[in-house]
Amino acid sequence: MQKIRLGISTCLLGENVRYNGGHSLDRFLRDTLGKYVEYMPVCPEVECGFGIPRETLRLIGDPKEPRLVTSHTGIDHTERMKAWAGKRVAELANENLCGFIFKSDSPSSGMERVKVYDEKGVPRKIGMGVFARIFIEHFPLTPVEEEGRLHDPVLRENFIERIFTYRRYREIMAGENHIGSLVNFHSSNKLLLMAHSPKQLQHMGHLVANAKKLPTKDFIIEYEKLLMETMAIKPSTAKHTNVLQHVMGYFKKTLSADEKQELLEVIDEYRKGLIPLIVPVTLLIHYVRKFNEPYLKEQTYLSPHPLELQLRNHV
Ligand code: SF4
Repeated sequence: MQKIRLGISTCLLGENVRYNGGHSLDRFLRDTLGKYVEYMPVCPEVECGFGIPRETLRLIGDPKEPRLVTSHTGIDHTERMKAWAGKRVAELANENLCGFIFKSDSPSSGMERVKVYDEKGVPRKIGMGVFARIFIEHFPLTPVEEEGRLHDPVLRENFIERIFTYRRYREIMAGENHIGSLVNFHSSNKLLLMAHSPKQLQHMGHLVANAKKLPTKDFIIEYEKLLMETMAIKPSTAKHTNVLQHVMGYFKKTLSADEKQELLEVIDEYRKGLIPLIVPVTLLIHYVRKFNEPYLKEQTYLSPHPLELQLRNHV
């Protein structure tokens, strides 16, 4: 299996590209997630030619259209950075990226809550880095996150689930028979999508059922949009519980009374926050294998990302 290609702010990999010659190494990203992804590092300030070390930059003015200026000498580099970023995102369009991880708080790379200074020099955390904004505008469906937010287990799991799903989607779209492949893809992702949004899953089901009535190109554009919008909605304990109960329904006739009782108890303990999601999922995987349940065997929900990442192990 080919590694997932992910864009990343270069300093997060431990490269000494910060304004002071330092780095912002994130060990989880480099050492753990790094085993499964191929990073495409981007340092806007160095690639734009500002050098190392360099004067710090800040955002000033209108938070929707801030200027990027040097903090002490006040030189305006907005147009230079925008021109470079426009060219860089055009290059990145050929890199088949399934996501991007930005360095938080940076006036170039920060994805949200970056300080923007008003005319009195008072900062408000309401901005976006210049490069991050241009990247997100150019790739609105591509999953993006910041390294700080990825320390939250729910946000981390959601982001990684999105990039793995996007990679699977890209792989099937690289093949032939797009409609047939997409119908199969949708079928095997139903439970995963249900965990994110049962309502969106309904919309997608309707779209897939009417696929032949639409021009293929329109169907694909709409499906990809709905897919990535749905995956961006965070799952919750209640939504996972609903999926687990749904899966249990497939074993109505095969499980003994004791086995059913045990499964119900495990799902309920998960619902109450006493045990992590991995526990009921592992028990269900055991029954899927034991009874060779064909529909469930194909469901990505039971194994959406490598077990080694331990993303479902938190309560
Ligand atoms: S935050 Fe962005 S611009 Fe700053 S050093 Fe890191 S990659 Fe470069």
